[in-house]
Amino acid sequence: MERKYISQDSLKTWLSKLNDEGKHIYAPVAKGDKTDFKHIKSVGEISMEHIQTTQSAKAIAFPRTEKLFSYTKNKGDVSLQDYDSSVIPETVVFGLHPCDAAGFRPLSNIFNWGTPDTPFNERMKRTTLIALSCSQCDEACFCTSVNGSPGNTEGSDILLTKIKDGYLVEVVTDKGKELVSKYENLFDAAPEVNKEEFLANVPQKFGLEELQQRISNMFESEVWKQQSARCLGCGACAFVCPTCACFDIQEDNKGSKGSRLRCWDSCGFSLFTVHTSGHNPREVQSQRWRQRLLHKFSYMPERLSVRGCTGCGRCSRACPVDMNIAEHLSSISKLENVEK
Ligand code: SF4
Ligand code: SF4
Repeated sequence: MERKYISQDSLKTWLSKLNDEGKHIYAPVAKGDKTDFKHIKSVGEISMEHIQTTQSAKAIAFPRTEKLFSYTKNKGDVSLQDYDSSVIPETVVFGLHPCDAAGFRPLSNIFNWGTPDTPFNERMKRTTLIALSCSQCDEACFCTSVNGSPGNTEGSDILLTKIKDGYLVEVVTDKGKELVSKYENLFDAAPEVNKEEFLANVPQKFGLEELQQRISNMFESEVWKQQSARCLGCGACAFVCPTCACFDIQEDNKGSKGSRLRCWDSCGFSLFTVHTSGHNPREVQSQRWRQRLLHKFSYMPERLSVRGCTGCGRCSRACPVDMNIAEHLSSISKLENVEK
């Protein structure tokens, strides 16, 4: 992996030049006490002070609402207008942390399970991720418990790590190389530094192996009732998560014209699995909480060879009743007698 150095001033120049080229740059922007990814018009809008953005960067490739196709009815005929990928701009996501960059792999495995998903894949094709290592963390972070780290390069095209007055630049993929080589004069040779010294210290909260051994055998466990007793089923945890991919299909119809929309949904919502007959296979919240954790730590590793959690801690920060996923996973990993 190629390593370089860029100063703070040159980083601003680089991003400005990418913006001037017409690339859509999404970066963390502070508003009140929250920071979130926004399409920026100038680099002055970027905020680098936050520990974590409220929302993940997943909406870049999996928007909250996406038009899949449109149709026009004319007497007995219906004409379809297919998904138009030509409107997707060349995009750069700047300043996402390694746990967000790593989240695009589980998303990609979901959206390519069976039939490849054109909207997701076309957006990813046009997106380059310039991630930023974490120099600080909070009590909700647990990337080191799920095989991640504050300086993990997995999923990033380029990873920057703040060192002294500039950034160590790790060029991970060919897409990353393209963005760097175009403006080679802004980069210098990488200094001899130990990257680890500049990273946050994220304590490991549980052993992944122990957790995975236990959780797959816990479908009928009483633990789900105990853990979910205060869950409101609000879905906030899923909406902020970089790897949650539940969606619903809605119809937006006006007279003879209409569109088919894909909209974010959540397996935590009570109506998510209701059948037309009225039967609901996940009738109570404990079954929905079980689904959330088993999907991430048992079904996805088994079926898609990837975990559905990167340890970003967003769900714990967003939960209105303080459900802390790392605490719950940690207690599961320590269970002695697992009920099948
Ligand atoms: S489940 Fe929670 S901690 Fe894990 S990736 Fe999703 S939001 Fe982050
Ligand atoms: S954010 Fe909290 S209360 Fe809302 S569904 Fe998730 S775990 Fe339940």
